[in-house]
Amino acid sequence: MIIVMERGATKEQIQHVFDRIRELGYDVHPIYGVERTVIGAIGDERGKSRLQVLESVPGVEKVVPILKPFKLVGRELRQQRSVVQIRHIGVGSDQLAIMAGPCSVENREQILTTAKIVKEAGAQFLRGGAFKPRTSPYDFQGLEIEGLKLLAEAREQTGLLVVTEVMNPRDILSVAKYADLIQIGARNMQNFSLLKEVGQANKPILLKRGIMAKVQELLMAAEYLAAQGHHNVILCERGIRTFEDATRNTLDLSAVPLLRELTHLPVIVDPSHGCGIRSLVPPLAKAAVAAGADGLLIEVHPNPEEALSDGQQSLFPDQFSALMKDVRKYAELEGRYI
Ligand code: PEP
Ligand code: MN
Repeated sequence: MIIVMERGATKEQIQHVFDRIRELGYDVHPIYGVERTVIGAIGDERGKSRLQVLESVPGVEKVVPILKPFKLVGRELRQQRSVVQIRHIGVGSDQLAIMAGPCSVENREQILTTAKIVKEAGAQFLRGGAFKPRTSPYDFQGLEIEGLKLLAEAREQTGLLVVTEVMNPRDILSVAKYADLIQIGARNMQNFSLLKEVGQANKPILLKRGIMAKVQELLMAAEYLAAQGHHNVILCERGIRTFEDATRNTLDLSAVPLLRELTHLPVIVDPSHGCGIRSLVPPLAKAAVAAGADGLLIEVHPNPEEALSDGQQSLFPDQFSALMKDVRKYAELEGRYI
């Protein structure tokens, strides 16, 4: 339920409402607006009518139900867009967040070279997997802790922020030690144990849409994070599996404006995994910006032919630089910048 306080409700009145909500067995999620405070009362849906009694409490204007199943991440409770602040970059602000780098961290030279290239072209984040979710157990699985250390070294040299994936709850604290943004990959979007534990890290989270996940399931996964008080969440559209097998996945660009209507969380797009074909990445990246994405996640490799994973969809350095020039123009049309 949403408890809308009157304009000018006093601190004491607001505190009293908090106390009453808790007495009734609900969690309190306040949003302090410029004009008024609204309070989300979240908990067992079956007894929600009990909250209706708050309508007669001084300072309360009205009590309204949240109709959607995603309560905290939805726009019913919070109309204003959220900006996830990661050091000096606000994801969801007018500045587009550009995250670029190889699929996997392979060695020192590869990651440091890539970091310099993507930084030069305008990226603010370096991406690279140290723990890789590979379809085959015989494929390269990532450098693990060594990979995390190399990412941190690249950050020191370039000032780029680091985004990297965690797959196993036991690695959360190690990943959090080196990453600025923790990625939950598509294969783990509904790994609810991981979602429940990743909040411990107290780091922003990039939540990628599952391979077979509906938009609502993505939002419910984000709701798991928010329900534990973890609000620094960025969503990522990365393509879904459909009957079409001409591309690796079908990039669902309609999800971008749809998510912007349904949630206040920032939404970025990964066209690389979205199509799996290098030549399609630049047009899809531009389309994503035109569709309202708050940023892009793009695979770039200094030598894609020798990449240990996802070489076929990784851009060559000069392709990435050219794309960034184009993206700046698209961003401007959207009233945004890099
Ligand atoms: C990745 O970003 O390298 C990755 C494995 O992505 P996804 O989880 O979307 O497949
Ligand atoms: Mn990849």
